[in-house]
Amino acid sequence: MHFIVYTNYKFKTSVVDGVEIFFTVPMFMIVKDLSYTVEVKKSGLVVVKNMKIVGLHCSSTDLHAGQIALIKHGSRLKNCDLYFSRKPCSTCLKMIVNAGVNRISYWPADPEISLQNEASNPMTTDDAKLDAKAVERLKSNSRARVCVLLQPLVCYMVQFVEETSTKFDFIQKIAKSQPDLNTDFYTVCRQERIKEYESLFLISSEEMHKQILMTIGLENLCENPYFSNLRQNMKDLVLVLATVAASVPVFGCFGFYNSESRRTNETDHQDLPQEIARHCMIQARLLEYRTEDHKTGVGAIIWAEEKSRSCDGTGAMCFVGCGYNAFPAGSEYADFPHMDDKQKDREIRKFRYIIHAEQNALTFRCREIKPDERSMIFVTKCPCDECVPLIKGAGIKQIYAGDVDAGKKKADISYMKFGELEGVSKFTWQLNPLHANALEFRDPTARENGVQKTKSLDDQQHQSKKLCLGHY
Ligand SMILES: [Zn+2]
Ligand SMILES: [Zn+2]
Repeated sequence: MHFIVYTNYKFKTSVVDGVEIFFTVPMFMIVKDLSYTVEVKKSGLVVVKNMKIVGLHCSSTDLHAGQIALIKHGSRLKNCDLYFSRKPCSTCLKMIVNAGVNRISYWPADPEISLQNEASNPMTTDDAKLDAKAVERLKSNSRARVCVLLQPLVCYMVQFVEETSTKFDFIQKIAKSQPDLNTDFYTVCRQERIKEYESLFLISSEEMHKQILMTIGLENLCENPYFSNLRQNMKDLVLVLATVAASVPVFGCFGFYNSESRRTNETDHQDLPQEIARHCMIQARLLEYRTEDHKTGVGAIIWAEEKSRSCDGTGAMCFVGCGYNAFPAGSEYADFPHMDDKQKDREIRKFRYIIHAEQNALTFRCREIKPDERSMIFVTKCPCDECVPLIKGAGIKQIYAGDVDAGKKKADISYMKFGELEGVSKFTWQLNPLHANALEFRDPTARENGVQKTKSLDDQQHQSKKLCLGHY
């Protein structure tokens, strides 16, 4: 996958700049671990080489994200760009600088060694301040650029991401299956995510934030208007992240399930915990916003589960590759047609030129897909007939995807093969089939006057009929 830094913002779909996606992804790497609030704060890291993501890492209990990147990539870190969700500590920075990286960008809030707990433990704060000084010294004496890269988002971006997230298939599927749902569940989910991410990535007190910036060598950002602009840019990006995350919500019995409900003991086909599947799908959703297709953005990410648990903070999960739908790498905007099937003239339609998200993820993978590993691809839409044989042929064991288009034949592209696909486990976004078919199924959200309403049998049958449509 290639990340070109976009200059032509007039095309509405390419809203997330390469730089911003590199920031949102490392932030997102750490979202799930809140148990890490002691002195060293959990951090996420994206390693980029020639505008392609070659590593997604997250600190573990034993190792910082920078150390993990060093173990995984070694001297291959040379000339890479690194995006940290916190300013790295001196232990990490010295090794990274030594490996010859090109640029280190970091999120300008609390650094890896927290400067926030002054009151609770002045001793550790002294250490943290000394570390920050050492980091500054390493920074000024290194060839690598160590910087804050935060540009203001284009003005319609938050709104655009909100609109597309509300319309996203998963949200629409919930809305359709729960017609009597009177609360706007999407807004509720989004508010929860905003709260969660703000507490993780923003410093609520302006004074505290200024002090931290001064300690980490960013005193030039402490004056207004720079300071208020910086805070606004940070808030906007957190809002984008929360908005995208809410489109794969924790809601009722919805999740990624295999509708063939074929029980198997083969580990290759066992499903992932819902929380992890949701997490990976949100990463794919973030990638979607880098699309070069005017109308439809698609994102895909491939992970593999290593046989032995690795040192990486992502548990046994190991990044393989990621992509979004785009014209062939290196092409200019006007090189290829952009029309869809509404255009009568078949010659000027885009479909013969667009490289699908799955195809880019496979092409630009940074690691082999090994036959003895459980590998999985997360795609924001149903894989099409062009991609299904590719995924199977590549030896990927599991597909997590939406299935709204499954079984459909459109003018330029069809989705007939996904349903018939065998040998690859398919987990699609739906109501948990076990819950939906159970007679005592209660919809936890359907409350009337505070009293839980049990679904009538009709409702349940209606529900399972809908589910049958999703069967293959
Ligand atoms: Zn560190
Ligand atoms: Zn495809």
